[in-house]
Amino acid sequence: MDLRAPIAICAILAVAGAWRANDDGGTASRKRVHISKTSVSGTETVVIENELPCSVVATLKLTERENVDAAVKSTETIVVAPGATRDWITFAAADSKKKWKYQYEWKWVCGAPDASHAADYIYELPFEAGVARRVLQGYLGRVSHADSYAVDWAMPEGTTVCAARAGLICDVVDERDGAGFTEDYKQKNNFICLLHDDGTVGNYLHIKKDGALVKPGVRVNAGDPIAQSGNVGYSSTPHLHFSVTRPRDAYAVDSFPIRYRTTAGTVLVLEKDKYYEKPADAAKPR
Ligand SMILES: [Zn+2]
Repeated sequence: MDLRAPIAICAILAVAGAWRANDDGGTASRKRVHISKTSVSGTETVVIENELPCSVVATLKLTERENVDAAVKSTETIVVAPGATRDWITFAAADSKKKWKYQYEWKWVCGAPDASHAADYIYELPFEAGVARRVLQGYLGRVSHADSYAVDWAMPEGTTVCAARAGLICDVVDERDGAGFTEDYKQKNNFICLLHDDGTVGNYLHIKKDGALVKPGVRVNAGDPIAQSGNVGYSSTPHLHFSVTRPRDAYAVDSFPIRYRTTAGTVLVLEKDKYYEKPADAAKPR
């Protein structure tokens, strides 16, 4: 890595998988969101189960279809409520006398498309009060934020990450280790997803292995410590990637420019390589 030009990159949080039995859509060891299939009278129904405490959006794309009933669209998206299990898609032959087959891939992400982003909400910086940190990459950054209003903050590994806004911890992955700048690392991030009261999701990426300080289902206030930062996943230098998102479907996630409270006032557009300080009187941990 060229230290004069640190590159900070993150990946989309969607987790993908081709079909396999009891698929959890990712490599995390815990159950989170997974699918199974039931077969009845020559039909096959995909059942999706969401074990997270937030809604998730899942999208299934057919990659191959032969003699599949026309009622099954090539792309199917579903919103699954917290803790819910739903029948999703029932596959059947268009002509029951002929052979039929199909293949698909699927993804899911936290959140729901009906979230209403509160544009006037002022976020706290996602680290400790009284500290200034440098922006490695800002909104729409050309390195990896071309279509994302995300911010990468330079942070030595082990730095305390604090909630930028109150909400419900809905997904935590911190069992992974290692980082790289290749495609396969886009599915190997550690992260925390935090559901805000307006339905948007705060995404804290690249946290240290075993670095989560919170578990799904826990409610936190702005300023509460939630993790130790790291350099895990699609990343080339220790940093925290933070974004606020709402999924359209599992393959298309919108992010939002958000306002931050700093010692220099409220800032909407954080500039690359500038330092921003979190006010010492910012929301304190409980
Ligand atoms: Zn990033």
